[in-house]
Amino acid sequence: MEKIIMKTPLVEMDGDEMTRILWQMIKDELLLPFIELKTEYYDLGLKYRNETEDQVTVDSAKAAEKYKVAVKCATITPNAQRVEEYNLKKMYKSPNGTIRSILNGTVFRTPIIVKGIEPCVKNWKKPITIARHAYGDIYSNTELTAEAGDKAELVITKKDGSRERTLIHEFGSEGGIVQGIHNSTPSIESFARSCFNYALDRKQDLWFGAKDTISKKYDHHFKDVFNDIFEAEYKDKFEAAGIEYFYSLIDDIVARIMKSKGGMIWACKNYDGDVMSDMISSAFGSLAMMTSVLVSPAGVYEYEAAHGTVQRHYYKHLKGEETSTNSVATIFAWTGALRKRGELDEIPQLVKFADKLEQSTIETIESGYMTRDLTLITTIDETVTLNSLEFIKAVRKTLENYL
Ligand code: NAP
Ligand code: MG
Repeated sequence: MEKIIMKTPLVEMDGDEMTRILWQMIKDELLLPFIELKTEYYDLGLKYRNETEDQVTVDSAKAAEKYKVAVKCATITPNAQRVEEYNLKKMYKSPNGTIRSILNGTVFRTPIIVKGIEPCVKNWKKPITIARHAYGDIYSNTELTAEAGDKAELVITKKDGSRERTLIHEFGSEGGIVQGIHNSTPSIESFARSCFNYALDRKQDLWFGAKDTISKKYDHHFKDVFNDIFEAEYKDKFEAAGIEYFYSLIDDIVARIMKSKGGMIWACKNYDGDVMSDMISSAFGSLAMMTSVLVSPAGVYEYEAAHGTVQRHYYKHLKGEETSTNSVATIFAWTGALRKRGELDEIPQLVKFADKLEQSTIETIESGYMTRDLTLITTIDETVTLNSLEFIKAVRKTLENYL
């Protein structure tokens, strides 16, 4: 078979630890033999981020804006321990946070459904897609530590120099902590529109929850923006499509989700989306069975796996021990990006290749060949637990039968 030719490069954002190992295996076994892979490569591995003082992360996001389609490997978000481990010049911000604030998009995460991996919430019959607002809140916060006797205030300085201020807390005999967060109305508006559009695309109900009873200005603003845009622009379209927009308090939404059949898109504020997507993915099987795409209002698509760098497996790998790390979500990040690139550049072979690679991945698991995380939870009787590379090679074998 001749290799598929690409027109425009994909923006390739390499990452850290075990996922960086999987990244190379996927390219070597599943992509390079079949495609004249064209990428513009950015190394977001922590070592190079440190060398460039994180400029590489900003550059990669700018490249994504330019080319419209990116694929990203999981990356380390440094904490104090990582600063020591990698001898970092400073504690850099989360690369995903940085990229999301530049692209200002919404992240949609959907579990990959495979026969034999049943959700542990038994009434969930259809995938639940989480739409995570990818801008602001605690991901671009400022924090201060307060000492005993300090007074913390929230101040807005107006254009004319006048100030609006309100007391946060007067610290008495003991100190504490203070945090400032923000969001912007245009970002919330584009979040709302992305969610309404995606719901129409998928013909699925849209649910949204916030804590407007407690947070009467901040969360209430989210509720109002969604409601106003829905009433003005989407109500008729939703009616015509036979789908619903449903708002409730976040805790009520969580309770209802647990009792639902699934099949809806669940719009979440940034932090809720971070946490709930981990719950949804593990409840549907494994963290490694979740696709993720950041969609910006300017039409930029950045595909990635929803899980982290799988540090524990990486340390085993470094000791020369065998790992059985699930590469499915990272494979689907590549197929998502290749399919989108194929659609935009009108290369049907590339779209078809992405479909076939996804089918081969699912079929490999359904025929009993899988990584350990799945063997532990599958209802399939006869299974073979494969190591990280063996699984990718098994997918390649299935794929070659197709092509
Ligand atoms: P993690 O990498 O998602 O892994 C947590 C645990 O989940 C693993 O130890 C493993 O469980 C299981 N797991 C996750 N992905 C798996 C896979 N593909 N195959 C098999 N098992 C898998 O989270 P973490 O260990 O908390 O974080 C590690 C690093 O990732 C951190 O530095 C964090 O900053 C970063 N992170 C990055 C992203 C991102 O770039 N999108 C997202 C989250 C976290 P067992 O050990 O029980 O096998
Ligand atoms: Mg998370």
